[in-house]
Amino acid sequence: MHTLPKAFEERIKKQLPEEADVFLNSLQTKSPTSIRLNLKKIASPDNLFTDALASKRVEWCDKAWYLNQRPIFTLDPCLHGGAYYVQEASSMFIEHIIKQVMPPYPIRALDLCAAPGGKSTLIASMLNNDSLLVSNEVIRSRASILKENIIKWGQDNIVVTSNDPADFKNLEGAFDMILVDAPCSGEGMFRKDSVAIQEWSENNLQLCKERQQRILADIWNCLKPGGVLIYSTCTYNPGENEEILEWLMDEWQADSIQIEHSFDTITQGSSKAHCYHFYPHKTEGEGFFTGVVRKIDGKIYSPRKNKKQNHNTKIEIPTELKALINNLERYTPYAIENLIGIVPSIHSEFIDHLSHSLRMIYRGCELAEMNNRKVKLRHALALSQTLNQENCAIYEVDRHTALTFLRKEEIPTPDISGNWLLISYQGIGLGWCKNLGNRLNNYYPKEWRIRMELKNI
Ligand code: SAM
Repeated sequence: MHTLPKAFEERIKKQLPEEADVFLNSLQTKSPTSIRLNLKKIASPDNLFTDALASKRVEWCDKAWYLNQRPIFTLDPCLHGGAYYVQEASSMFIEHIIKQVMPPYPIRALDLCAAPGGKSTLIASMLNNDSLLVSNEVIRSRASILKENIIKWGQDNIVVTSNDPADFKNLEGAFDMILVDAPCSGEGMFRKDSVAIQEWSENNLQLCKERQQRILADIWNCLKPGGVLIYSTCTYNPGENEEILEWLMDEWQADSIQIEHSFDTITQGSSKAHCYHFYPHKTEGEGFFTGVVRKIDGKIYSPRKNKKQNHNTKIEIPTELKALINNLERYTPYAIENLIGIVPSIHSEFIDHLSHSLRMIYRGCELAEMNNRKVKLRHALALSQTLNQENCAIYEVDRHTALTFLRKEEIPTPDISGNWLLISYQGIGLGWCKNLGNRLNNYYPKEWRIRMELKNI
């Protein structure tokens, strides 16, 4: 690890007077590895990493385990099938928070700073089927990675947008829950990421704080009265943490919400806002900070009617596609040029409205492209929980074949009839091959393919 900035060390000595040395030493230790399962795709971690799986679970997240060592995740087909997400443990505390603050009825949630998608996939797992998640990332290249991870996760009640927080201004009172996992100075990443150390400066802390206030001021309007905003960073300094929550309370009359818990490795701090710090000398995870506020007043969302007519209801899904969709009656189809997809009907109008004011890069589940009435299945359908696997021709493959497929190379032709074969590994869909009889056309997306060599596998 690079040498820590002197000014950082000095501040820590004041901030954690009795624990500074142990804290600073902990930054020289190895980061723990943890995974969070997608329970809609895999019931237990038993068949994953038999050598590396520790018996230890992440205390505050039902679906998460620590690993004894860091495997080469790229070479595990289950990762590419969205069976789990590799996520550091502290930030999974968001699950514990959501359990306490999420209303029991269907909600609209917004994850404003969402790439690469760790917290979005976590939130999505907790939403009921009738809730919707808008997962947003302003930086376009990062938004593509977010989209990839959301597609792999396979839920149909998510839309992905790529906008600046200021672009949400037409959505006053639209969300019951907003997560702002803010861009920050990243002190909590020092152990993992030497760039965070190099880029650290006291001046940068101030710039980060101002940007966090700007982001929150832009989005505050979008929260419903009574709605909750979860704020988090991966840094330790009070300017980007406690002071931001206090600012929300003073500037916007927000109520700080106390989160009940019994985890003695979490540090609560002494702000008027309820705050939860994760320090690596106490918690098996990276540095993390979070707190929750509730909005007291404001407007309830009432969309302006779009002048453009919504043509979605007229789209007919081809019969051969219908058979591949579970609970078809829950969905409304949409078409964008020759692409056909579905969104949950309960949110179709809202999604349509969003698509007029935001840059929407993914919605619901993409089903197929139609060319002269010919159906070309979309990759997202193979990974979707909406797919009715009972009506698919399934080609269950071993690990080597799965990895060859994921490299977008040719795989052996099985004796299975069917136009489209769902390539499956341990029961998890990985993508499609078109069956030409004597060979298979591999439809794995070029931009997602594994580039790592497969020596001795
Ligand atoms: N929530 C993500 C996860 O759990 O995978 C990590 C988010 S990261 C801490 C913060 C994100 O904010 C980055 O993806 C970054 O691109 C984005 N960001 C940077 N500047 C921003 C801005 N001005 N407004 C909103 N988001 C911004």
